Amino acid sequence: MEYLDKNELDYLNYCPICNSKNIKKIGEKNTININSKEIVSLIECNNCKHWFISPLPNQKYLNNLYKVGSEFVVSRGYKGREKPEDTEIKKYVSRFIKYKPNLSELNFLEIGVGPGYYFNYFEKNTKLSYGVDPCSYKPENPNIVEDISLIPENLKFDIILIQDVLEHLENPTDMLSIIKKLANENAILSCGFPNKDCLTAKKMKEKWRMVMPIGHLHYFSKKSVNIMLEKSGWKLKKKHSTWGRPTIIDIIKNFDWGSKNPIKLIYRFFVYLLFKEILFGKDQWYVLGQN
Ligand SMILES: [Zn+2]
Repeated sequence: MEYLDKNELDYLNYCPICNSKNIKKIGEKNTININSKEIVSLIECNNCKHWFISPLPNQKYLNNLYKVGSEFVVSRGYKGREKPEDTEIKKYVSRFIKYKPNLSELNFLEIGVGPGYYFNYFEKNTKLSYGVDPCSYKPENPNIVEDISLIPENLKFDIILIQDVLEHLENPTDMLSIIKKLANENAILSCGFPNKDCLTAKKMKEKWRMVMPIGHLHYFSKKSVNIMLEKSGWKLKKKHSTWGRPTIIDIIKNFDWGSKNPIKLIYRFFVYLLFKEILFGKDQWYVLGQN
């Protein structure tokens, strides 16, 4: 049996985004570590509607869990998401590089490089690229460091990418504040993270596929996104909900197969696909900030 180190956990009595003490428990769940029976709570802030996991592990402890590939934060043997098609990479980066057409003169920073699919694209196309990730499967590259504090002093960046990262951190606002100090004037910040305002999340609460403690710790509302950007000093340029990437396996696993009548079953499956996954499944935020 595996246990979390209790000395590294903090039971917050306030919202980590807006600091309101008006919070309530809305569910509880096991961690993603199948070798552990630890149970954590899902908390909602009544003021900004942000959801977070309690207790929250401190960032130093989290960094170490990611570094060793602990099953409390990643599934066993995880080596990062599968490589997207080149067209998907281009489509993703086109969302924000349209604001920065002169890429070859610009500096790029990515937090959460993972296997480096986006990083490699920018390394080829920008003047200078730096990356941060504590994981063991990041590309070997002197410009990819384990911690943001290891980025050389006086370097500033024009495009900063932090995709699927903020939900993994103890304090996402602190990270955006640190990044802000590394941003050039008019720098663009591109980020994506879970959207708990989507109907699927509201209906499923702790059963929502994004609630994966202690890998995912934060689930953002419209209001908590605004507060986080404002507190960290970023101007909000764009914000919209978007689809995550549920795999076919996720979809099949989450579907209730308990029906004897095959016609009804097929009908229910189509309704499920159409409404839950296609119409109501926009369970991520895509946010563009500007310095
Ligand atoms: Zn709040």
